[in-house]
Amino acid sequence: MGFLKLLFPPRCIGCDELLSVADVKRGYCAKCASQMVFIEGKTCFVCGKMLSVATAGRCSDCEKKERVFSEGKALFLYEGPMKLSMYRFKYSNRRCYGKVYGRIAAVRYGHWIKKMGVDAIVPVPMYPSKERMRGYNQAEVFAREIGKLLNIPVESKLLIRTKNTKPQKMLGDAKRDENLKNAFKIGKSDVQFNCILLVDDIYTTGSTMNGAARALISSGAGKVVCLSACIGSDN
Ligand SMILES: [Zn+2]
Ligand SMILES: [Zn+2]
Repeated sequence: MGFLKLLFPPRCIGCDELLSVADVKRGYCAKCASQMVFIEGKTCFVCGKMLSVATAGRCSDCEKKERVFSEGKALFLYEGPMKLSMYRFKYSNRRCYGKVYGRIAAVRYGHWIKKMGVDAIVPVPMYPSKERMRGYNQAEVFAREIGKLLNIPVESKLLIRTKNTKPQKMLGDAKRDENLKNAFKIGKSDVQFNCILLVDDIYTTGSTMNGAARALISSGAGKVVCLSACIGSDN
């Protein structure tokens, strides 16, 4: 065991307890495994949400709204242990979770990412002063691990957040889009990538991904697909 592992022994992404040797590789304990919900089965063909009713193949949000990104995927349903996992990943300096999410993403969606022709990975940026206070952007930690495992460049400076937006969870549905309007801009004059994988920690209604994708597409990106660690349920 390396020195860093002694200092920071691997913890379960679900309950944050120390992991047994057998569970280190997958990153979560047996109890959490039985409680977390992996995204699978019938999903919305636009954003990747699990569908409550298998009708047209689109979730209720994607039915209502124009989508700028072409496809989306996610690892877990945002509930149970994964809700706490996301909280600690963001606010309790559990950057190490990002490596586990990244590994799971590479295994589950590596093939899809290659098939889409992704030539750059872009984490959804934080407002600069917020990032300075937190010390890291959790979406970037997740994105870096995927990039490393799949050998795809991570462009963390490409997209800039220009508005210190209110937390989306505090807003109603209509206000979410408004909140994200013009919240992103491109750091360079044009974007030359054919397909960008936009990466975030949590996807709820899709307003953030859509706002970020719009900035990338209007600056010349051919196509944007998205991936998040957790995704809300269809309602
Ligand atoms: Zn656990
Ligand atoms: Zn959808």
